[in-house]
Amino acid sequence: MNILRLAMPAPLRRSFDYLPPANSNPTMLSQLQPGCRVLAPFGPRKLVGVLLSIETESEIASNKLKAATAILDQQPSLAAPILQLCRWAANYYQHPIGDVISNALPVLMRKSQPLPEQTDTYWRLTTEGKGLPVGALKRAPKQAKLLALLQQHDRLNSDDLARHALSRSHVRSLIEKGLAESFECHRQAAPNNNKTTEQPLALNKQQQHALDAIDLTAGYCCALLEGITGSGKTEVYLQLIERCLKQGKQALVLIPEIGLTPQTLARFRRRFNCSIAILHSALTDRERLTAWQNAQAGIAKIIIGTRSAVFTPTPNLGVIIIDEEHDSSFKQQDGFRYSARDIAIKRAFDQQCPIVLGSATPSLETLHNAITGRYQHLIMTERATGASTPAFETIDIRNMAMQDGFSPPLIAAIDHEITAGNQVLVFINRRGFAPVMICHDCGFNAQCPQCDARLTVHFGRRQLRCHHCEGQWPLPSHCPDCGSHELDFRGSGTERSEQALQQLFIDTPVIRIDRDTTSRKNAMQALIDEVHRGEPCILVGTQMLAKGHHFPDVTLVAILDADGGLFCADFRGPEKMGQLLVQVAGRAGREAKPGRVLIQTHQPDNPLIQSLTQNNYQHYARQLLQERQQAGLPPYGYLTLLRAEHKQLDIAEQFLRDIRHQSESSHQDSKHQTVQCFGPLPAPMTKKAGKYRAQLLLQASDRKALNQRLQAICHFADHHPYGKKVRWTIDVDPADMF
Ligand code: ADP
Ligand code: ZN
Ligand code: ZN
Repeated sequence: MNILRLAMPAPLRRSFDYLPPANSNPTMLSQLQPGCRVLAPFGPRKLVGVLLSIETESEIASNKLKAATAILDQQPSLAAPILQLCRWAANYYQHPIGDVISNALPVLMRKSQPLPEQTDTYWRLTTEGKGLPVGALKRAPKQAKLLALLQQHDRLNSDDLARHALSRSHVRSLIEKGLAESFECHRQAAPNNNKTTEQPLALNKQQQHALDAIDLTAGYCCALLEGITGSGKTEVYLQLIERCLKQGKQALVLIPEIGLTPQTLARFRRRFNCSIAILHSALTDRERLTAWQNAQAGIAKIIIGTRSAVFTPTPNLGVIIIDEEHDSSFKQQDGFRYSARDIAIKRAFDQQCPIVLGSATPSLETLHNAITGRYQHLIMTERATGASTPAFETIDIRNMAMQDGFSPPLIAAIDHEITAGNQVLVFINRRGFAPVMICHDCGFNAQCPQCDARLTVHFGRRQLRCHHCEGQWPLPSHCPDCGSHELDFRGSGTERSEQALQQLFIDTPVIRIDRDTTSRKNAMQALIDEVHRGEPCILVGTQMLAKGHHFPDVTLVAILDADGGLFCADFRGPEKMGQLLVQVAGRAGREAKPGRVLIQTHQPDNPLIQSLTQNNYQHYARQLLQERQQAGLPPYGYLTLLRAEHKQLDIAEQFLRDIRHQSESSHQDSKHQTVQCFGPLPAPMTKKAGKYRAQLLLQASDRKALNQRLQAICHFADHHPYGKKVRWTIDVDPADMF
């Protein structure tokens, strides 16, 4: 008897057995492969599951087994290596396989409707358009450029447009004039229609050494490319990809959420004339499916995407590149809490291809692996443009009279640069106007009713907002407790800094870049374009400014408050702060003009601040590694955080207490302390969005023992009487402890 064992899209840590659909064709069944999608009844609905295996026996009596409704695929939708990767991840993260697969498959593949045809839109000239003389449409240069291209090539698609900095609106204009028309055509490997518009740069010694060290023919190898900001890592990636394509293989490139900018993509498009699949969260379902299918069919030779692109199928993978590998957006922070970087490493190992992790500020985990020789360690210490690295200076702000967060020496330094015609970047990692609103008469301060958190004043919108539950309230004109009008806004965020700078430098444009000013589509791009015009200006913003941008005219980077990260309760606080500061500082003096970095601090003697200001992330990171080693924290030990939340704190805590008790009494190894439990304790922010949160920390010196312990814990928790009413999650290798 054939039994179909399916992963169903449900939050249950198990698979489900079904009989084959009634009157299924036996030959078809015999050819059915794992990874195919199967429609099956699930409760009152029909859901799309994925075949894990065909079994001959089931724990469920055959007369109780339901029949699946339909087999949706002839060929596996989830190719064998991806299915294997999903199964590995489900076990490693102790997450339901059905949900892992849901993360891996595009939405449209999880629906029972047939998939849309695999066609692409192309454009060509009409007879009228063909009749136009060469050089027509002079008065609309972009349209003229498009016309000339269409005269040279018989058709173009959207990739071609992007490569030539043209957009659909230009096509539309030609269509409206009756000169061009669109048509749908079966997708095919892009014919080499276009020459690349950019040639590879001549590599410097360090870049050449790094490129040559990565052997694309020797199977699995993991390399850390540790290159300071501006050392030309991207150029190394591009030339590595070029080599990979020459071997006829595909390249998978993962970049942080914030790094997938039009500039980055344009750079790839200028360099390569192959089809590129782009996968990020802002795509429509249809676009995502198309990109995914192009990758799976081997049409797309380069796949660039954010976190979830790690699951994109590629029949012929030649290399994986992870840019800014330390970036926290590679870790998913809810639901299936996976690290795309770690899964990518596993994938490279399975598929026996090299993987390159690039960063100026590698994570301590990766650095440790490089230092101990598990990874190849490639180092680039010089800026590719020949620019010098910026000098760091601290400003001791103890006892200084501050003006909205700005010290007199900082104001003078900004003034100096602006007068010299340069640009300045001011970094403050807090949105809004002020983090505290307090009544000067009675001491009332505005708290979120749902969270253990203060409300942030957003002055422009006249709002109080909670940055933890996204709650919003109108900004009161008087104290809700005593009615006084003496409301004080304490501390500063980007909005207040912007205002202060505008008052101090009346004639200089101040450009604020944070989540609030860039939420509209293309808003970020417009702001960045303004900076690139090169006129003197002051940029003020959050960590959005830290990553990847190349601002050639910025000569001064000011860090308003370096102390926050040092006092952060989380064990990764100093690591994150160091990475952020070094990345922000890296925006200074990237080209001809030398750069300067000024850091305001109350703790100029703090050893961490000291080693950062010597601009030595290597040294800083090694200091942190020593501290981690003493505490048995990652990468010297392994952590898992169990979180539980409920309307009542004691119920959440009781649930975790039972788990701990059960886990310790049934595992003798706890005496050998392979796995230690800490807690349950209230979470650092105990109340969030109206729920109370408790957590239990597991710390282990051995991954395997920890994984076994987690399996037992999940089994126990799934069957615990509170297991349904307490919302609990498991976070393997947590990125933070909140
Ligand atoms: P990173 O990613 O390491 O911060 P980028 O790849 O953005 O650095 O390179 C920084 C700048 O150096 C870019 O403007 C790039 O065009 C330039 N660059 C990179 N490699 C070279 C090279 N070999 N010769 C000249 N300029 C280079
Ligand atoms: Zn009051
Ligand atoms: Zn809140």
